[in-house]
Amino acid sequence: MSRKSKIIITLGPATESEEMIGKLIDGGTNVFRLNMSHAKHEWAAEMAKRVRRQAAERNANIAVLFDLTGPSIRTGDLEKPYNLLEGDVVEFRKVGADPTVTLSTTVNYDGLMGDVSVGNTLVVDNGALLMRIDVVEADRVLCHVKTPGTMGSRRHINLPGTRLNLPALTEKDHKDLALAVECEADYIAGSFVRDSAHVHELRAAMEKLEGEAQIVAKVEDQEAIRNIDAIINAADVIMVARGDLGTEVEFEELPILQRRIVKCCHELGTRVIVATQLLESMILNPTPTRAEVTDVMNAAYEEADCLMLSGETSVGRYPERCVDALVRISSRIERSGGHGFGQNVLLRDERQKTARAAVTLADSLPDARLVVLTRRGVLANHVAMLRPRTSGFYAFTPTDRVCRQLALTRGVRSFKLAFASNIEETIERVSELLKKDDLIRPGTPLVIVSDLLSDHFAANSILLHHA
Ligand code: PGA
Ligand code: MN
Repeated sequence: MSRKSKIIITLGPATESEEMIGKLIDGGTNVFRLNMSHAKHEWAAEMAKRVRRQAAERNANIAVLFDLTGPSIRTGDLEKPYNLLEGDVVEFRKVGADPTVTLSTTVNYDGLMGDVSVGNTLVVDNGALLMRIDVVEADRVLCHVKTPGTMGSRRHINLPGTRLNLPALTEKDHKDLALAVECEADYIAGSFVRDSAHVHELRAAMEKLEGEAQIVAKVEDQEAIRNIDAIINAADVIMVARGDLGTEVEFEELPILQRRIVKCCHELGTRVIVATQLLESMILNPTPTRAEVTDVMNAAYEEADCLMLSGETSVGRYPERCVDALVRISSRIERSGGHGFGQNVLLRDERQKTARAAVTLADSLPDARLVVLTRRGVLANHVAMLRPRTSGFYAFTPTDRVCRQLALTRGVRSFKLAFASNIEETIERVSELLKKDDLIRPGTPLVIVSDLLSDHFAANSILLHHA
C-alpha cells in the first residue's frame, strides 16, 4: 500500500476484458494507456468506459491516457516482405513515383528526400535493419543494406540524428485527439515531439476541442534531446520513450539519457514516465530476467513518477504478473531510498518554496503525514516533485478530474472533497476521511499545505495539526 511509483499499463487484446481491467486495478495499476497506433475508435471508446466503470466500482482514482501515433515515417504496402541481404540496394520513393530497382517501397512522408543527406543512417523496424543512404533524388532515396533482415509492409523508419520537418500532428492524430476529448481522457500523449512548439500545438488543438486533459510529451529522438529543457517546460509530463529513443541513439547512450531527462524533469518540476521494455521478456515468460529486475529497480531508484508497460500487458501472456513484478520491485527499492533528485528542484516561486518548507517539516516529524488541499492539482504536483519521504501523502481536491490526474503523480493518493466555507470544517472532513480509511490515528501529526488555509485572504500556508 505504501508504493510510491505509479504504474501505467497499455490495454490490448490480452487485457481488454472488463474482468481483467478490474483485476489490474486491484493489482496496482494507476493509469490505463490506449495506444492509438493500434486501437480502433470504437474499441478505444469502449475501453475507456470499462476502465471508468471498474474504477467507480472500487472508488479508485484511475486515469486514462490516449497516446497519439504522431508523425511516424513508414514503409508502404508490399506484396510480400523483402528478405534483404548485406549490400542489397533498397529504394524508398514518393507515392506515385515509379520504382527504379526491384527492392523498392513507397514512404508515407514526401519530405524525406528533402530532409536526408548521403551518408545518413536509415533504420527500419526499430533497429532490425540498418541501411546507409547513398543517393538522394527529388522523388527517391537509394540505400544499401548494412545489417540483413526482413522488411515488411508499413514498417517504422527512423533516421537517427536527422532533423525532420514533419508536422506535430497528422490528420489521424487530429481525429484521435477528438475521440480522446470525447472520452474525457485525463492525459493525451504526443509522439515524436521534437520541440516545445509541438507541445503547444497539441495543447492548443486539445483546448480548441474544449478538452481538459494534461499533455504528455514523448521524447523519442535526438532532436527532442536537443530541445529537452523547452519541451520539459512546455509539457505536463515527459515520457522517456525508450523504444524509439533506443533506435535513435547508440544503445550505450540510453541509460545516460534516461538519467539526464529524469534529473532535468525534477529540476524543472515536470513529472516523468519511464517507458518501454521494462519487462519485455514477460510477454512470453512468467518471471522477469535479472536484467529487467535491475532496469525496473533503476527507474524506481531514479524516482520517476511512473513505470509503463506496453506489449507486456497489451499482447503478453502474463499481464497480472507484470503489474505484480513492478509493484514488488518498486516497493522494495523504495524501502531502501532513492536517488534524491527531489533535492535539486528549482524553487521558482513562493508556492514552491512553501511546498519545500512543508516537505521539510513533514520529513522531520516522526510519523507525520502530508496533506495538500488543491483545486487544480498544481500544488500537489509541486509537493510530489520534492519527493517527500513519508508514504502518507494525501491530496484533497473537489473535482473528479484532478483526482484522476493525480493517479499519475508519484507518491500521492487523492481524495475527492468539497471544501467547506471555513477551514476548520475542511480540516475536520480531511481527518474523518483519513481515519475512515485507517490511514491515520487520533493524534497523528498532519502537515497541511494549501493556499486555502485562511478564510480571510489567499496565502500559501502550512498548518501543523494533530488529528
Ligand atoms: P510507442 O512509444 O510505444 O508508441 O512507440 C513508446 C516508445 O517509443 O518507447
Ligand atoms: Mn515510440
